[in-house]
Amino acid sequence: MPVDPSVLFSTPPPRKVAVPIIDVHTHVRRLPETRLLVEAAQHYGVARLVGIATLDDCLSLKEEYPDALVMAATLVYDNRHDPERFVRENLALLERGAAAGLKVVKLWFKPSFNVETGMKLDDPRLAPIFARMGELGLVALIHIADPDIWWVKYYSDRTVYETKEETYRQAENVLARYPALKIILAHLGGDPEHLDHLEQLLSSYPNLYLDTSATKWLVRELGKQREAARDFFIRWRERLLFGTDLVVRPGLPLDHYLSRYWVHQLFWETDVVCPSPIPDPDCEGTPMIRGLDLPADVLHSLYHDNAVRVLG
Ligand SMILES: [Zn+2]
Repeated sequence: MPVDPSVLFSTPPPRKVAVPIIDVHTHVRRLPETRLLVEAAQHYGVARLVGIATLDDCLSLKEEYPDALVMAATLVYDNRHDPERFVRENLALLERGAAAGLKVVKLWFKPSFNVETGMKLDDPRLAPIFARMGELGLVALIHIADPDIWWVKYYSDRTVYETKEETYRQAENVLARYPALKIILAHLGGDPEHLDHLEQLLSSYPNLYLDTSATKWLVRELGKQREAARDFFIRWRERLLFGTDLVVRPGLPLDHYLSRYWVHQLFWETDVVCPSPIPDPDCEGTPMIRGLDLPADVLHSLYHDNAVRVLG
């Protein structure tokens, strides 16, 4: 069944729940590029977006969208080789951000970042920053791992990269050391392939939350284990937050943003089985949507209540 984007994406299917949705994971820019993302979000009932950018870009965008935008700033790594300066500059960033309403700090600690910067998430240079984030009530949104298949395609050299299992030590150290710091691990903790691992992490660390961002990855992996995934979302309904990982890029058409929200809605809210309109180089054969059809009360928590509780 071919999917005709121009017809479908501009017409959201009926919603299963009436609740102002919060998307906790988007990448934004200054205007005008971000307008289309906000337009698409609002078209799909998404009232608020956590927008990741530099602090200055967040502050600029916040003037335009005081209600819709929840600011998520990235740290500055330029002076990481001078630890004192690195800490000083980033603590100043936290203070300036918190005073202006910053809610989230994004850390992108994927394997390639570890190798390029020589920094792991449990690096001593980040310790004072995590401690201060906890005091200020700032939430950490962390990318810790990539799809299993990327360890075959890109990270197979053991002299350069740790295994996927090993890479979680970084996250577990931070989760254990800063119990007052709320941590959202992006992309269902980076491990939608292994729900048993996620269960173990959620059981061990009460300060851990997971977001549903990375559309094709989650739709691909959770669709392979629908029953288990549905059970997981029901069991951990208090700890899961809706997010898309939509990335604003100059020149992307409105339909690009609409299509991701369309896929998410079908996947979480219905039991539809149909081809996905999003090309997926990591999928063997045609990428499919195999909807989880989550119960209405779980959707309520996922779309809204949990984000309100975690982000304040
Ligand atoms: Zn992201």
